[in-house]
Amino acid sequence: MNDYRPDVLHTYGSYLGILFSYLAETGAPFHKPKVVTYSSDSLSDSTRRLIQDRFGIPVFSAYQANEALKIGFECEHHTGLHINIDLYPLRVVDLACHDLPVGETGYVVVSNLVNKGTVLLNYQIGDLAALLPQPCTCGRTLPLLSFRQAVATTSSTCRPAGHSSANGAHHFHHRRKGMAISDRPRHTYTFHGQSDRCTGGRQPGT
Ligand SMILES: [Zn+2]
Repeated sequence: MNDYRPDVLHTYGSYLGILFSYLAETGAPFHKPKVVTYSSDSLSDSTRRLIQDRFGIPVFSAYQANEALKIGFECEHHTGLHINIDLYPLRVVDLACHDLPVGETGYVVVSNLVNKGTVLLNYQIGDLAALLPQPCTCGRTLPLLSFRQAVATTSSTCRPAGHSSANGAHHFHHRRKGMAISDRPRHTYTFHGQSDRCTGGRQPGT
């Protein structure tokens, strides 16, 4: 960082925690970027306060996943995550995959309308969050999602109504993405194409 002297430092949230904890503990001199951004895993509230309050560097989060690269972003008012709904329509649902009212915390389900490899609809991404009722004071009209409130301890699979889990399933084996913790255990998800209906649960031991 001292060599490159960047205006913007972008990395994983956990890396920011390690870096700025070290800087705070040692008092080591460093080039101060104008902005810090992070994605892919979480940043603790204490680390965010450390970076913003002690070092005076604004912090911004981006909500991303390999399955949906630019789901949302944090604006300068820091009220939540603006959702890019024209690219990645997003729902918040309960365990039965019913849409929850705005303000209620549930499972985040996202669709990727701009994926070049294959269509990906109603993907239960494994995060818990809530759609926020109030418009952002920044003036942007993209809806707001709360910052991730937790990692889901159960998951859902999405499939067309009336189809069993064995019909036409595509299985994805991967590590969690997005704002998920990068060292979380491996999970298996089953995606069944166009659907607004979700059933099932995370497969134990995967
Ligand atoms: Zn805003």
